[in-house]
Amino acid sequence: MNSSFFNRNDTLQYIFFKFAQNSGLVLKQCDRYDHPGNLFTKQPTSDVYCSMIIGVLKEEDDARVALNPEAITKLTSQNQLLIEKGAGLQAFHSDQEYTEAGAQVVSQEEILQKANFIIRIKPPAETVLQGLQPHTAILSSFQPFSDPAIVERLSQYPLTYFSLDMLPRTTMAQDKDILSSMASIAGYRAVLEAATYLPRYFPMLTTAAGSIPPAKVLILGAGVAGLQAVATAKRLGAVVEAFDTRTAVKEEVQSLGAKFVEVEGARDEKSAGGYAVEQTEEYKQRQRELIFDRASKSDVIITTALLRGKKAPILITKEMVEAMKPGSVIMDMAAAGGGNCELTKNGEIVKHQGVTIVGDSSLEAKMPMHATQMYGKNVLNFLKVLLKEDGTLNLDFENPLIGSTCIVYNGEIRYGKS
Ligand code: NAD
Repeated sequence: MNSSFFNRNDTLQYIFFKFAQNSGLVLKQCDRYDHPGNLFTKQPTSDVYCSMIIGVLKEEDDARVALNPEAITKLTSQNQLLIEKGAGLQAFHSDQEYTEAGAQVVSQEEILQKANFIIRIKPPAETVLQGLQPHTAILSSFQPFSDPAIVERLSQYPLTYFSLDMLPRTTMAQDKDILSSMASIAGYRAVLEAATYLPRYFPMLTTAAGSIPPAKVLILGAGVAGLQAVATAKRLGAVVEAFDTRTAVKEEVQSLGAKFVEVEGARDEKSAGGYAVEQTEEYKQRQRELIFDRASKSDVIITTALLRGKKAPILITKEMVEAMKPGSVIMDMAAAGGGNCELTKNGEIVKHQGVTIVGDSSLEAKMPMHATQMYGKNVLNFLKVLLKEDGTLNLDFENPLIGSTCIVYNGEIRYGKS
């Protein structure tokens, strides 16, 4: 535990907390405000939180903010809303808009002191975790499947964490699914970015100065981002083809007017919950040959192929890049997971033999206005489940939406347990 945590007035509270945790006791959050001496209960109850003081913190390195003013108006009847000064500016929402929506615009220190529920997009910095009151709940996207060590780090603090990226991919979770909302924006943006790097037109044109054939776009991974990229590239007039190991997406690709590139014999497991699974070596070899052929004919390749909790598969080798036409563009949206192209560098633009390779896994942040709106709507839908009518937290871990997202409960690791 960092020493500044112990500099806080609640050193005694923390010692009590650890004692209580080790003895299977749970601290009552609501008493923190009313009685300096905390009470303990034997069992976790679903109403250990009093009505919420919700704090929305500024994102340090992201133009988005977790709630837009419209989302704030939906929460103020039951809860007190605090938003950090200037938090919405990069998403084009002024402090005044937030004030008019019913929030109080305050400093970060004030939020840390008063809030018992924090909403973020990215995990808060260590200094924020140290500064929060014990038992505060934080709703964010912690991505424990790509960084398992994060859970251990988070559990050092007597806080509760809900990770929205852990929602099951079920119908019930669809309107809360931040991964889909952000992937959809990123897929759209990837095509626009590719079009600006490309030294040629996307659509077919017949002009007095001659005819121009349409650009050829290959999309690898036809999940949420890939399908949005297919639709956007089609709208811009390109000839589009897409490939995915999940043959279930074939019809969706075709219904968007694109060609589905099919490799026979893919493993497609229902038990993977909508996510792709690793393929056999034999399948991968056939896939490489087919992609080599399609890549060498493409002007743009957009890659979105991810394997949850594993390194992204390499689909575009150096050899394939060298077979592409000079001026071609690769947008690698799997860059943060290691990249689908052998030459990708996360967060960088690499030029190789005339081919531009853009490694960007956070394209949604380049459209902060709608990304903020959609993220906020997903959060509101999740809060309909997480907050009970009386404004207290619903901690029914039997509920798959609560059980799967609550990765740490008051300092106790739950990730991987439901
Ligand atoms: P993702 O971001 O995990 O992966 C992107 C795509 O890459 C997937 O379609 C995957 O099959 C593909 N891929 C992985 N390895 C590949 C390889 N070697 N070659 C080619 N493609 C590869 O996936 P996603 O977009 O977040 O979602 C995947 C699917 O989950 C969706 O298409 C949908 O069917 C389902 N889903 C369901 C819900 C819901 O019901 N709540 C929400 C979102 C998504």
